Amino acid sequence: MAIAELSPAQACTRLAHGAVLIDVRQSHERAGGMAEGARGVALDELLADPAAHLPSQSQELLLICQSGKRSADAAQALLAAGYCNVASVSGGTVAWREQLLPLVQPLTDAAEQDFFDRYSRHLLLPQVGEAGQRRLQRARVLVLGAGGLGAPAAFYLAAAGVGQLRLVDHDRVERSNLQRQIVHTEASIGQAKVDSARERLLALNPTIKVEAVPLRVGAENIDGLLAGVDVVLDGSDNFPLRYLLNDACIRHGVPLVYAAIERFSGQVTVFDAGRQRGVAPCYRCLFPEPPDPAFAPSCAEAGVLGVLPGLAGVLQATEVLKLLLGIGEPLIGRLLRFDALSMQLRSSRFGPDPHCAVCAPAAPFPGYIDYAAFCRGG
Ligand SMILES: [Zn+2]
Repeated sequence: MAIAELSPAQACTRLAHGAVLIDVRQSHERAGGMAEGARGVALDELLADPAAHLPSQSQELLLICQSGKRSADAAQALLAAGYCNVASVSGGTVAWREQLLPLVQPLTDAAEQDFFDRYSRHLLLPQVGEAGQRRLQRARVLVLGAGGLGAPAAFYLAAAGVGQLRLVDHDRVERSNLQRQIVHTEASIGQAKVDSARERLLALNPTIKVEAVPLRVGAENIDGLLAGVDVVLDGSDNFPLRYLLNDACIRHGVPLVYAAIERFSGQVTVFDAGRQRGVAPCYRCLFPEPPDPAFAPSCAEAGVLGVLPGLAGVLQATEVLKLLLGIGEPLIGRLLRFDALSMQLRSSRFGPDPHCAVCAPAAPFPGYIDYAAFCRGG
């Protein structure tokens, strides 16, 4: 049966004569303004149980959406369900607005309004949407290191609305950090990095929680730091810490987003061996032995192009968001390498080591070791 369509002006008149107007858009769409007099009931909720939202089957019903498409579909469905007096508003809220008919801001509290405004570009993505954004809001990410990798990564995770960031770093800000650690400023020199970063992240997004933990990470505190964490972002700059973090993440079944940089090149991958034993490899599967310290200079020794940790850190933040949202293909079992001078990215696959000391399927957790001695070759 053909759907009755009314212009916005006609709908306005019918509304004044007792018709019921339902805005069938999602709540984040309605947050931008809805036709005055309309009641908001999202399409899926409405169709799941029309009787819960609508007066009677003979009552005059008008449906409005963004452009008139969804409301026409909804009207069709309601007709089929026995509602005999249903019409759709042609052109939807867009036309309603263009014809200067009255709009109202739906009643939402300030925090809800902030949510819909702040994340409006995420809410438009079907892969994120309101459900995904709420998932980010409930998530907790451990960012280990508030330096070259942690700074850009934490910035974007905060902006994206990851609800709880636990930042761990025992260092203080030095002037030589500012060439790449953009979460800190001239004014934060001498301040604990985690405090400086916390201030900046909350200035960007005051709706999240940032825990600033000024600790040197070791086997004695890593279990506590991992408590309640959904994903770990490794922004560490030394091998003992990378091995410790790997072992702890396997023990606790938490995915680990890894990156390392050197001068003009970097590499990024995701380890998820704790949750996917024998399927996803770990850091030890990739690097069973630490490198000879003589061939693994730090940034302080070898230098690094300032934007390089930015590239790597933003790739890490991207992987964290994908893991939290459960979208796309995470870099599990793939090592992405990039070189800034030739600007080439390459990824290569690697698999789990069935004899890996820590992540082999039947291997019991061997306990934490003396990682400094292990990496010294001792
Ligand atoms: Zn392994």
